[in-house]
Amino acid sequence: MKLNRRTFLGTAAAGTAALSAPMVKAAAHGMPRVVVIGGGAGGATAARYIAKDSEGAIDVTLIEPTRTYYTCFFSNLYIGGFRDLQSIAHSYGTLASDYGINVVHDWAIGVDRDAKTVALAGGGSVPYDKLVISPGIDFVPGSVPGWSVLSQNKMPHAYKAGSQSELLKAQIEAMPEGGTYCMVAPPNPYRCPPGPYERISMVAHVLKERNPTAKILIVDPKEKFSKQALFEEGWQKHYTGMIERIGPDFGGDKVEVNPGEMTLTIDGSVENVDVCNVIPAQRAGHIADAAGLTEGNWAPVNPTDMSSKMDADIHVLGDASAQGDMPKSGFSANSQAKVAANAIRGALTDSRVFPAKFSNTCWSLIATEDGVKVGASYEPTEEKIASTDSFISQTGEDAALRKATYEESIGWYAGITTDMFG
Ligand SMILES: Cc1cc2nc3c(=O)[nH]c(=O)nc-3n(C[C@H](O)[C@H](O)[C@H](O)COP(=O)(O)OP(=O)(O)OC[C@H]3O[C@@H](n4cnc5c(N)ncnc54)[C@H](O)[C@@H]3O)c2cc1C
Repeated sequence: MKLNRRTFLGTAAAGTAALSAPMVKAAAHGMPRVVVIGGGAGGATAARYIAKDSEGAIDVTLIEPTRTYYTCFFSNLYIGGFRDLQSIAHSYGTLASDYGINVVHDWAIGVDRDAKTVALAGGGSVPYDKLVISPGIDFVPGSVPGWSVLSQNKMPHAYKAGSQSELLKAQIEAMPEGGTYCMVAPPNPYRCPPGPYERISMVAHVLKERNPTAKILIVDPKEKFSKQALFEEGWQKHYTGMIERIGPDFGGDKVEVNPGEMTLTIDGSVENVDVCNVIPAQRAGHIADAAGLTEGNWAPVNPTDMSSKMDADIHVLGDASAQGDMPKSGFSANSQAKVAANAIRGALTDSRVFPAKFSNTCWSLIATEDGVKVGASYEPTEEKIASTDSFISQTGEDAALRKATYEESIGWYAGITTDMFG
């Protein structure tokens, strides 16, 4: 049920009535409380599903510092000129007005797991019975020597969308004739495995139109990458001779950058570049560490319900979690959020809990109407979230199929953002 203002007021009253209802498992304080940290693909979806499906029986607070969420998904298409920025911007107003979610625009800075409270940068503290955290990624300090967040204006990552995407797009459009764009690609595991290579395609698309003698250099620490055969076929077809990739065999894993000089040193040899898009190594958003939920760079979870292996009352979603076979994607985070929301609602209100099933598809645009995809279904096993079957676009597909694949991705975008934000 989608709540409008009128039904929300009604269900809020019903929720108040539920304070004394025995089926509601709240610890002596009335209505059970769920706090969600992070209003992205995982967090916004979880908050919305818990609020919507519990019909006012669970009090949901969403803590998210930004007032506008820019999706990383389709931010490459913005850089390529296929979308405008407004089309990837989303607000939290509907979650508050139509679903009754208490949206708090602040940073969570700590979790007291004994007292079951979340501390806010603004000074408050929010109690929970169940906590969901979906803070996305932060960067591993020092992973690209010479680069830090202090240099992200000279060498943007554009791996959190918004102002960074705008900056990178502006830099690409201002490149001198015949100049060089360089991407320092991240090591595994990282947010959106095909994301860097879709971005290369979109940068090539822009440069082919505006600056056709420009060059693209990818410095890559990985032997291979997602949808590699499809991207390489597309680059050969649409952007012949424009793109060069330096893998680990040729020093792609030994790179240092100098933002002041706009140079990079690859295995001892210095290159001048005009734009340098540094995508550092990644780890779970810092709050996951602060809450004591990580082991290494990521937060281990139980594959049946995404609950933390460190704390059964906390569920970790999306990129921050160690996701077994699932890639770190918006689709995955959204899918995991529904599993967790169902489990949380079951634990707090005795509603039915369904066995976990997860899915993911990642579409990438290579050139105008030339879309490809990769995806799989997943189920929990004792050990991890395991892939049960998978599919991938094929090289040599005809233009009509590629156009249909691209159109499918547009439908997916509309669907997932409605699923997140109402
Ligand atoms: C260029 C690019 C292209 C991509 N393309 C696709 C695609 O086509 N398809 C796809 O499925 N995925 C894609 N992705 C991946 C997708 O964006 C992420 O996997 C997804 O957003 C992860 O969801 P999340 O909830 O884990 O994190 P996010 O969506 O990043 O949400 C995290 C939220 O938590 C908030 N937050 C962080 N710390 C705190 C804190 N301490 N307190 C409160 N709030 C906090 C942040 O402000 C943020 O809003 C792409 C990513 C990139 C970079």
